[in-house]
Amino acid sequence: MTILKLKPIFKERIWGGRKLATDFHYQIPDGPIGECWGISAHHHGDSIIEEGELAGKLLSELWRDYRHRLFGDYEMDEFPLLIKILDAKDDLSVQVHPNDQQAVEINDESYGKTECWYVLEAEPNAEITLGHKAKTKEEMERLTFEGKWDELLQKLPVKRGDFILVESGTIHAIGKGIVIYETQQSSDTTYRVYDYDRIDSKGKKRDLHLDKAIQVTTVPNSPAHINAEKETVTSGEKTTFIEVPQFTVIHHKIIGSDYQVELRETFQLLSIIEGSGKVITGTEILEVKKGDHFIITREVKKLVASGEMEWITSYI
Ligand code: ZN
Repeated sequence: MTILKLKPIFKERIWGGRKLATDFHYQIPDGPIGECWGISAHHHGDSIIEEGELAGKLLSELWRDYRHRLFGDYEMDEFPLLIKILDAKDDLSVQVHPNDQQAVEINDESYGKTECWYVLEAEPNAEITLGHKAKTKEEMERLTFEGKWDELLQKLPVKRGDFILVESGTIHAIGKGIVIYETQQSSDTTYRVYDYDRIDSKGKKRDLHLDKAIQVTTVPNSPAHINAEKETVTSGEKTTFIEVPQFTVIHHKIIGSDYQVELRETFQLLSIIEGSGKVITGTEILEVKKGDHFIITREVKKLVASGEMEWITSYI
């Protein structure tokens, strides 16, 4: 078994919708489902291997017991990445995440959270919050406690195909009417700044974490500018969105029958975000389709794809 297929995990969220069922054809529970965790070894949602000799095992177990064979010679105790698809029927809370050092100090977590988004769908006029306009911590504090969100927050319109890097310490929110493919560090630590005074199904407001949020927010803050590099290759197109210490993220468009996937000494993650086709290794032929999530282990020595599809790969 050289390619591992993961079983997605679904999370109910106050802001979630039904597009993970209607647009991705996942079997999801009833209710507002906001998140699909496609690839995760986090203890809040640990992926199960769906097929093959390792079927039934958890990704965290593979990282612990088969790390060298499947992934590479990594020192860290916990699997570093987490892949999600988010369906924002309503606005997500305005929030910020700690960096690695702050995550260890404040929350005793292994990783902080730098994340990045590829916009899969966006309704007309959809926008995100990215960064803020305060020049000092004092100004940020004042605008936060006075609730002057329009003065504080930086909004940005988005459309399908946009790519956004959200470094730890950057205030952000996904706006309503957006579906996003997210690559992030494996962390579930969020400091909520503003939640629109919403109440959940039990009549409760969600907690805010203003002190921690202000502590970890970068001030002043200018979100990173992305310079995507597009290359034309045989039977497709390859766009490298980002290469930062936390992850590299590449978009692939496959049209035809001889798309050669570049392999690495170590593992990479792969999610099909559009269309369908086949991937062929030395020993296996896999039928793949939109919504499938895989780990290409280091055992794979050759990988060729055919079909009409788009996928995103990531690695560290
Ligand atoms: Zn976030």
